[in-house]
This record gives sequence, structure tokens and C-alpha cells, in this order.
Amino acid sequence: MEKHSDVLIIGGGVIGLACAYYLAKAGQKVRLLEQDTIGAGASYGNCGLIVTSHLVPLCAPGAIGQETKRWLQGSSPLYIKLSPDMKRFRWLLNFARKCNPTHLTHAIKAREQILTHSRTLYAKLFKEEPLECDWEEKGVLMIFNSRSAMQKYDKTNTLLKPYGQNAISLLGDELIRLEPALRRGLYGGWLHKTDGHLRPDKLMPAWQRVLQAQGVALEENCRLEALVAGDRQIRNAQTARDSYTADAYVLATGAWTPQLTRQLQLDLPVQPGKGYSLTMPRPAACPQIPCYFYEKSVVATPWKSGFRLGGTMEFSGFNSNILARRIQNLTSAAAEYLKEPLGEQVMEEWVGMRPMVYDDLPIIDRAPNHSNLVVATGHGMSGISMATSTGKLVAEIITGRKPHIDATAYGIRRFGT
Ligand SMILES: Cc1cc2nc3c(=O)[nH]c(=O)nc-3n(C[C@H](O)[C@H](O)[C@H](O)COP(=O)(O)OP(=O)(O)OC[C@H]3O[C@@H](n4cnc5c(N)ncnc54)[C@H](O)[C@@H]3O)c2cc1C
Repeated sequence: MEKHSDVLIIGGGVIGLACAYYLAKAGQKVRLLEQDTIGAGASYGNCGLIVTSHLVPLCAPGAIGQETKRWLQGSSPLYIKLSPDMKRFRWLLNFARKCNPTHLTHAIKAREQILTHSRTLYAKLFKEEPLECDWEEKGVLMIFNSRSAMQKYDKTNTLLKPYGQNAISLLGDELIRLEPALRRGLYGGWLHKTDGHLRPDKLMPAWQRVLQAQGVALEENCRLEALVAGDRQIRNAQTARDSYTADAYVLATGAWTPQLTRQLQLDLPVQPGKGYSLTMPRPAACPQIPCYFYEKSVVATPWKSGFRLGGTMEFSGFNSNILARRIQNLTSAAAEYLKEPLGEQVMEEWVGMRPMVYDDLPIIDRAPNHSNLVVATGHGMSGISMATSTGKLVAEIITGRKPHIDATAYGIRRFGT
């Protein structure tokens, strides 16, 4: 078998597939290695929201105070496992440092361009390719139990206005008229009309078939063990079975990326942010519009083919343990907002590792010391939403074309590496 390709991509999540798609479109011969099956990582059981409006980073001013308050009230979706892990400690410290107005302005701009372009590219992709994935453009409803939280969100909304991403406010009965699956008595909601949603566990196999038709070689159960470097270049990629060569390499390995770049003396601040989801048939009173239950940070996504609840953010390293109390938190949170929080039977309980960077911006850049290696990771809570523009940017970096967005904010040098 020919083991050389123009580009070798490591990682078969949504980011790896998007890179493969735009590289193949640009005429490159592409091979992709996945340690498990395509879409087995975070890109499978997530909530599938295409959140063009999600411009404000997690590390916003006041985030620490708000999370501490929620934690004391027992309603925080955040869990941090205490352990003597210096990397996690440094990550948290850097996160706290980024909760300032200067970073807020910078991150909003940087998130806006990648989210907006991704949205436009998704529209084109769905028109041109047979990607059946329950795609709908109904917006996303942010739902509030309390008046004070709803009013606080007005400040966020003001920040979104210059970008045309501001939401419409709906109070009491107005909200119920729009979304009758919600319980009466909720204070209100903000409707982000520009957001969309899809079913990620349908997107991934459909995109896989498109790539195969494009001639991309996809190798599953093929774990990269090491990237062998020499003379400031990657020379080959070693798996347990084979050695692969390429003109260019892309690391799209999500939360696992630091494990691989460490071998190259490249320290990237990516931490796994574990999230949970529950997938089931649609309840009889199913929402029409995806809902984000603000006080609980839980999402309910309805599709033609099913229904999913998702949330929680656990910093506890790599583990796929499914804790019963986290599952319980998801369902009890949804029960506060929905008439029927669950479908007839939960078909799947799932956990996935979000690739979290402390400044809540992705990393899309050439590795500083290896000119033929591009890293594409760190998409945090918005990887599905940012995938298409990321894939296009990676293809532009590798083929030397003019980037369609300014990539400075996603650079590796911002970490002082
Ligand atoms: C509960 C939850 C809800 C979410 N909801 C949303 C949402 O509504 N909207 C949104 O935009 N985002 C959402 N996200 C975030 C989104 O899922 C991620 O940002 C995105 O999937 C990251 O994609 P990725 O390709 O970088 O990582 P992954 O999908 O994790 O892919 C990385 C791949 O690399 C492979 N890999 C790792 N190491 C190796 C190796 N050595 N060799 C070969 N392969 C390797 C892994 O097996 C994996 O398949 C959510 C996440 C969670 C957990």
C-alpha cells in the first residue's frame, strides 16, 4: 500500500474531517488516521448547535464570581477534580487572568470571524454535498428561570449587537406561545435567530462518505504513536503497524493533542473538558427550537430523528466514567424548564472530551519548530460551529493560498512558545 500522501491528517473528529474536505477540494491527496472510529471523540454525542451568536468567551469578566456563586448554590455545571496536576493548575490560573475587558473585546472579534464564516461555509456545504444530518435553521432559545439572570443577559446581548448577533427578548406567555414544550412560570427567553442545529452523529458518517467519494484515504483503528522529526520538519508518522510519510501533517487530535506535541517539545495549553449527553426518542411534548437552560447550562436539542440533553464541564483529566449523579443533574435541570424532559427511553448515555484552551480561542497554526506541521485544535464548546472555517483555513495554510480570515488570534505564539 502507498504510504505517502500530500497531507496526512491525524484525528477523525469534525475538525479532521473538515480539514480533509477542504484539502481534497484544493486538489491535495489526503490520508487521515483515526485511533478509534471516525467521530468517536467529542464530535459524536455533542449537542449539535451551530452557535454563530456564541461570541463571548467563557473567560469573560465576572465569570469566576458567577461560577463560584453557582457552585455555592449547588447549581454549577463545573466540576474541577482536585489533584496535584500543575498543568491544570496553570491552565486555571491563565483562565482567571483572561477574564478581563481587553481579552473580551479581542476574543469576541476573533470568535466572530470564524463562527460567521463557518456558518456561511456550512450553508454551501449542505447545498453541494449529500450530508443528511437533520440540519435546521430555527435559532437557539436561551431560557431563564429568574428575572435577574434574564436581565443580566441583556449586557451580553449589547455586546453582540454590533455583529448582528443580538437576540430577541420574549417574556412569560410570549415565550410559551413560541415554544409550548416549556413549563409555564419561566421568566423569559432570548431567541438567537441566526443559530442553527444539526445531528452530529449523523453528520460524521455522512461526511465520511463524502470524503471517501472525494478519494480521501481514511484509516480507522490506526493510532499515531509518534511524529518523527528531523531538520525542523516532520519526517514520518509512526503507528503500531506502519510508518507514513507526507509533504504536510495536520494534528486534529482534539483534547489529545498535547500528548502528541509534547514529543516535539511543543507545550500546548489544551485540557480535556468532559461533557455528558443523553440521547432518546422525542418526548411527546418536544421543543421545536433548541433550548439552552441558562441557570443550569444544560442544552436540549430536538431533531426530526430524536432528542438530546447535554451539558456539564468536568476538569478531571482523561476518563470515560459515566457518573450517575451528573446524568441525574442533566435530567433534573431539564425538568425545571420542560414539561417533558425525557423521551420514552434513554438510548445512549455518553461522555466526550472538549479540547479546552484557557483563552477560549482555537489553535490553528503551523508548529513553530516544524514547518510542515499544522495544528488545529482547542475549539472548546464550539468545535462543530467552527469546523468548516477551520478546515478551509488549514487548507489555505498548507497550499499557500490567501487565508479567508485573519488567523493571528489563533496562533501558537500567543502562548509564548
Ligand atoms: C456535551 C458536549 C456538548 C457539546 N455541544 C456542542 C455544540 O452544541 N456545538 C458545538 O459547536 N460544539 C459542541 N461541543 C464541542 C464539540 O463537540 C468539540 O469542540 C468538537 O467535537 C471538537 O472536535 P475535534 O475534532 O477537535 O475533537 P474530537 O472530536 O475529539 O476528535 C479528535 C479525534 O482524534 C483522535 N485521536 C486522538 N489521538 C489520536 C492518535 N494518537 N492517533 C489517531 N487518532 C487520534 C480521537 O480518537 C478523536 O476521534 C460539545 C461538546 C460536548 C462534550
